[in-house]
Amino acid sequence: MAKRRLNKQQQFRIRKVQEERASRLARKEQKVQAQADAGELGPEQEGLIIAHYGQQLDVEALEGERAGTIVRCFVRANMDSLVTGDKVVWRSGKNETGVIVARCERHNLLQRPDNFGALKPVAANIDHIILVIAAEPEPHDNLIDRYLVASEITDIPAVILLNKTDLISDQNRDSIDALLGRYEALGYEAVRTSAAESGDRPSPEVEALVKGQTSVFVGQSGVGKSSIIQTLIPDETLRVGAVSESTGKGVHTTTTAKLFHLPMGGDLIDSPGIREFGLWHMTPREIEYGFREIRNLIGHCKFRNCRHLGDPGCAIDAAAQEGTISPERLKSFHRILQDMAEQQSRGLKAD
Ligand code: GDP
Ligand code: ZN
Repeated sequence: MAKRRLNKQQQFRIRKVQEERASRLARKEQKVQAQADAGELGPEQEGLIIAHYGQQLDVEALEGERAGTIVRCFVRANMDSLVTGDKVVWRSGKNETGVIVARCERHNLLQRPDNFGALKPVAANIDHIILVIAAEPEPHDNLIDRYLVASEITDIPAVILLNKTDLISDQNRDSIDALLGRYEALGYEAVRTSAAESGDRPSPEVEALVKGQTSVFVGQSGVGKSSIIQTLIPDETLRVGAVSESTGKGVHTTTTAKLFHLPMGGDLIDSPGIREFGLWHMTPREIEYGFREIRNLIGHCKFRNCRHLGDPGCAIDAAAQEGTISPERLKSFHRILQDMAEQQSRGLKAD
């Protein structure tokens, strides 16, 4: 990623903004401290972050008489970053506000790159990533595999959801069955649905998939994520996300990730950024690790610095010849390694 060089004036402006932000925060913190000293803060209680706006967060009270209500909270300056889906300990203050005093332990963290390629935390405590693909546009192994690699390295399980089953015909049936079969053979769960045929209500398959879980939907644009999500939460709040997503390719929107409770039980965390999950730069080590059937072969190649791109004595090629790696996955592995290497060298040149 190319580094930006800032001129003196820009540096000055950035410093000023940072100073202002710091002093604003200090004032807020003094106010809370004053309330705390005056015994005006409520007792510590558990909450769930359902949205995040800079220094302010929407926290849903999980206990006490205000359970289920949403309180705008801010954070003590010395706390590390909080994201949607985090469980926290908070105390209520004056005027319907509150202050977060601690973060509970996270099970996992979904991250995505910012404009400069650095990974930023977006959401926490996710049970599974639902990777949506569709009968049309035709699914490509190497794109699916990129999402799966991202899920493996993030350590959040992925489920493949094939949408638009109404568009399956004699032309594409065999290739779709074969594709899903390949992933099932690797131990991934695959579910089929049609948002178009399910009407306003979620299809039974989708309902069973999300029920009682915290889910995020990811996948290429056009596969039907919005359509499926709309059957789950017919609320208009979500359309906001859909609008900001169309503001342009390559533009990273800053729309916050929001947590929605689902009518059938379970939660959905969604934002335009989350839907693009997985499409960031990955290192060769991460790619090796992200292919389940390749992970175990690491260290078995003849040369320690094997690039696994047709190098002599490559254990991965040998496994493919024996049939333990499918030709499609091998091809896709090579393709992702090559794409990432090219991206890297372009990035270096731009520097
Ligand atoms: P997203 O970009 O992944 O959010 O996809 P959208 O939900 O916006 O859907 C893209 C297009 O596919 C829209 O025109 C939808 O009406 C259509 N679509 C969504 N689900 C289905 C489906 O199950 N069958 C068919 N035939 N079309 C669908
Ligand atoms: Zn190798």
